[in-house]
Amino acid sequence: MSEKVNPEQERVGVYVCHCGSNIAKVVDVEDVATWAADLPNVEVSRDYKFMCSSLGQDLIEEDIKEKGLTKVVVASCSPHMHEKTFRVACERGGLNPFMFEMANIREHDSWTTDDEVAATSKAKALTNAAIERVVHHQPLEQLPVEINPNTLVVGGGIAGISATLELANAGHHVYMVEREPTIGGHMAQLDKTFPTLDCSACILTPKMVDVGQHPNITLLTWSEVEKVDGFLGNFTVNVRKKARYVNEEHCTGCGICIEKCPFKVSDDIFEVGLSERKVIYRPFPQAVPKYPVIDKENCVYFQRGKCKACQIFCPTEPNSIEFEQEDEILSFDVGNIILATGYDLFDVKKIPQYGYGRLANVFTSLEFERMVNASGPTEGSIVLRDMESTPKSVAIVHCVGSRDENYHKYCSKVCCMYSLKFAHLVHERIPEAEVYNCYIDMRTPGKGYEEFYNRLLEEETNFIRGKVAEVTDAARIPEEEGKLIVQVEDTLIGRQRRVPVDMVILSPAMEARADSKEISQLFKMGCDFDGFFVERHPKLDPVATMTDGIYIAGACQGPKDVPDSVAQGAAAAARVAGLINLGTVMMEPVRASINQDECSGCKICNNMCPYNAIIFHEDREVSEVITALCQGCGTCVAACPSGVITGAHFTNDQLFSQIEGILWDVRPEKVTA
Ligand SMILES: Cc1cc2nc3c(=O)[nH]c(=O)nc-3n(C[C@H](O)[C@H](O)[C@H](O)COP(=O)(O)OP(=O)(O)OC[C@H]3O[C@@H](n4cnc5c(N)ncnc54)[C@H](O)[C@@H]3O)c2cc1C
Repeated sequence: MSEKVNPEQERVGVYVCHCGSNIAKVVDVEDVATWAADLPNVEVSRDYKFMCSSLGQDLIEEDIKEKGLTKVVVASCSPHMHEKTFRVACERGGLNPFMFEMANIREHDSWTTDDEVAATSKAKALTNAAIERVVHHQPLEQLPVEINPNTLVVGGGIAGISATLELANAGHHVYMVEREPTIGGHMAQLDKTFPTLDCSACILTPKMVDVGQHPNITLLTWSEVEKVDGFLGNFTVNVRKKARYVNEEHCTGCGICIEKCPFKVSDDIFEVGLSERKVIYRPFPQAVPKYPVIDKENCVYFQRGKCKACQIFCPTEPNSIEFEQEDEILSFDVGNIILATGYDLFDVKKIPQYGYGRLANVFTSLEFERMVNASGPTEGSIVLRDMESTPKSVAIVHCVGSRDENYHKYCSKVCCMYSLKFAHLVHERIPEAEVYNCYIDMRTPGKGYEEFYNRLLEEETNFIRGKVAEVTDAARIPEEEGKLIVQVEDTLIGRQRRVPVDMVILSPAMEARADSKEISQLFKMGCDFDGFFVERHPKLDPVATMTDGIYIAGACQGPKDVPDSVAQGAAAAARVAGLINLGTVMMEPVRASINQDECSGCKICNNMCPYNAIIFHEDREVSEVITALCQGCGTCVAACPSGVITGAHFTNDQLFSQIEGILWDVRPEKVTA
């Protein structure tokens, strides 16, 4: 912020973009450019087919040099797309890159209406606002920020594991925080994975072991992030490491404590309530880390002060069971954060007509996954709820809560494929069984996916195209006794069908985690309407977020299968590795500053700053912004009751001029003057 500018003497170049026909088909681009040429301070005004092209940028560069422009306005698309492009063009022409302003006449205008008159008028308003504002711009210098080479990965499902291993194998240190006692996520619960039918555990557990043993990885399971401060390159994270009541340094994972524990409770998480587990438990045999955890709520020692069987039988010296253990708060610094917190499954009880919880033999997809798993509660046998009888007919209901106006409008992407997988597994285990797949549309995009569907057609699965209306136990004839009746409209033959079956499997929507809003607030980033984390750009930047230094991977961004989750994990890791390798990045110089001569010392800004970037000088009773910590969010500028905090690039002059500029058509005397 060196030299001062004089708005009266500015020489502005205005460039109005056609964006092919994206803008020009609705906005009269030539009219906007001709009109702008007569505005105060405008030295040159042009329209051009593609301002972002090399030739478009050359126009800016040449005009700066030949016409002595001091400021530049481009009226085109969103600054998210091309602000950087045009700033660099200004720099090549010899201007400070912040002497530039963009008017968004595409997303904010031509894409919103077919009304050519209104669109052209709005384009003029937006262009005028940019011109009025740009004349107040001051040259600014970017700030170099060092990147801490350590990374935090939140969530130890396959997406988080993939990101963590990519970074660790590249020589970078990673803190992985997982809130369950083990990593693995949903993939650890699956039996076989479509379309290749690899055993899920066989391909997942080697990666889990790698995470557990890698010298570059600090694995914090049974832990949750409680606080995040800082910004790209310099985050400080507080993690609550919940008490396991098992000393991880002494425990050998021998499992004797689990064997000797006399109490059992329903295993509602890993086995989704289909079997029981001990009160001191390891979620599954290949869990990483191998140490068990005591379920305090159900432990007789914690509740009644008696038992201690686990401690009595623990063979290690010193004893590994520590009832007095307490939660620990760990604090560490990282440069980047990757969120890979995954998904929840839609609660099928919200659709009572499908009978889950009321009709014993209606199962969820995850229950079925556990049932067909050789290490699951039935050791791989497909049985009814009595845990004995083998079903002779099975109906699999797709789209439970997905593609449904009442619940989630979106397609959950993986359900068609895993429903086909289920049909295959039923055929494999019970060859004589009749299998019905009730689907709305069969969606199988993916390598080998359509081929898998064709294979199922050959296995003589019955496909019924139609949304299931209800599942009842309303038997009408003796042969239907004990059966579930699936009522579905077969839209291919235009008939209602009643399909009596022994077992129904519901394939619920993948939905955002129940706490995704709180997590997004903790990490200061956005959630979409459905609660999934929002990417910076859905096509061009799918793993970055609007918060620099925070990335997302896997099903926390939207429904995704394993290959896509792995790819996103690796992509997020590549983005982080790129920054680590740079060592230093240049940050936007949009920062707040306090006029200390005028500061009343009220400290309101100190408490409001989300980045803890404002300190208070007790001796002088004034506040000061630490420039390196400030992220330019503007909270303090708006909060200061004395109006003595200024946001660089967002000064009162700049903002009020922009507002006046946008009101050009209601204040015509201003533009014609
Ligand atoms: C029934 C069923 C069958 C499927 N079959 C297949 C298949 O055959 N093939 C296939 O490709 N895909 C399949 N999928 C999809 C597969 O489950 C997902 O693609 C995959 O699990 C997504 O991985 P993820 O790491 O993004 O999420 P998750 O597996 O959900 O992992 C997220 C992890 O983050 C942890 N976590 C969450 N919140 C926090 C927090 N705040 N702090 C710390 N940790 C946190 C969780 O505990 C979990 O460990 C199936 C899905 C279902 C429901």
